Amino acid sequence: MRRVSILGATGSIGQNTIDLIDRAPDAFRVVALTGGRNIARLAEDARRLKAEIAVTAHPELLDDLRAALAGSGVEAAAGAQALCEAGAREADWVMSAIVGAAGLAPGLAALQTGATLALANKESLVCAGALLLDTARRHEARLLPVDSEHSGIFQALRGEDIAAVERIIITASGGAFRDWPIEDLARATLDEASSHPNWAMGQRITIDSASMFNKAMEVIETREFFGVEPDQIEVVVHPESLVHALVGYRDGGLIAHVGPHDMRHAIGFALNWPERRDLPVERLDLARAGALTFRAPEAARYPALRLATAAMQRGGMAGAVFNAAKEQALDAFIAGQIGFTVMAEIVEEVMARLDRDAGLIDAPMTLDNVTRTDHLARQCARNVMAERAG
Ligand code: NAD
Ligand code: MG
Repeated sequence: MRRVSILGATGSIGQNTIDLIDRAPDAFRVVALTGGRNIARLAEDARRLKAEIAVTAHPELLDDLRAALAGSGVEAAAGAQALCEAGAREADWVMSAIVGAAGLAPGLAALQTGATLALANKESLVCAGALLLDTARRHEARLLPVDSEHSGIFQALRGEDIAAVERIIITASGGAFRDWPIEDLARATLDEASSHPNWAMGQRITIDSASMFNKAMEVIETREFFGVEPDQIEVVVHPESLVHALVGYRDGGLIAHVGPHDMRHAIGFALNWPERRDLPVERLDLARAGALTFRAPEAARYPALRLATAAMQRGGMAGAVFNAAKEQALDAFIAGQIGFTVMAEIVEEVMARLDRDAGLIDAPMTLDNVTRTDHLARQCARNVMAERAG
């Protein structure tokens, strides 16, 4: 029986993970579940799955969680430290599906126990890829990709030598605004940015798909996960989203990962790894799928891609700056304080300002330094936005 914990259990990835566990109750024992404000969901899942502990990120909701779990025998806890303790509970497999840099510390705590960490939380690789990889190495823990593109790359690399890889191509749906006139993007509303043309996900990643910050983060994620150089990674817009990623080898061979867009494939692949088991995903009917189309991403529509390349080239803490500035700009867009296209302008300005601070960007990659950089970049983003508003 595999002992599993889910960090971010109440979200889109977390719920898809729970769906798979519900279908194979004899194969898994649930250790810890964590969530945010949705106490009812968290408590109901923790009871049904007989989890050892349920943790909310919000200390002020601990009493509510305790009440919802009364008589169940499930422990309740709350706050940032409790999230790390949930990650560190003895388990074989931990799903990292918190959204944002908040997922980094609990994910590191899981790796320190030697558990396998299934990583949906791409932000932690963007902020601190070297730290995660180094922690995994030191504790003989394994990182498995959950992002569909990276799961596809991982599968296309199976049995091959990474040294024979020439390039990696990840596809992008193009997001909500892929066919909009570029000059209209500045007026895009929150509602328009929050509806994905192809599927349902959490709100933040949906907006990040419209701006391509999601794909920009995935480029960095590809570099960190697979150790390839930035110029070996390509992004191609593929509106049908059936081809998730392709690995090109030195002999010109190109291996694609193809399938319907259902995150339960990538989650289930990681959950059952190294075996392959039946998964409840639709089998792709290629004749019905018809044409698959591809086009180059336009630089003017998607400035986030250029910013990710700059962050990779700068190295060190530049990824943490990029991510924190993006998270802060996204918060401001969601709050209605800035326009859609201003998000990339803020990130660019924050990267430029903090780039001059070599002591910050080139500091050793420890959790403390990443956290400090994250705080400073958020502060800098708030300053930039205040200056623009004033
Ligand atoms: P979501 O918003 O649906 O869920 C996020 C989860 O994290 C929830 O359980 C929430 O309570 C928790 N959370 C939010 N803020 C928190 C904080 N500050 N501290 C602790 N917990 C917090 O998000 P999602 O769509 O499930 O995405 C989760 C992660 O997976 C993200 O990193 C995202 O980029 C990645 N991802 C998602 C998809 C997808 O299809 N949804 C695909 C690939 C990768
Ligand atoms: Mg993805």
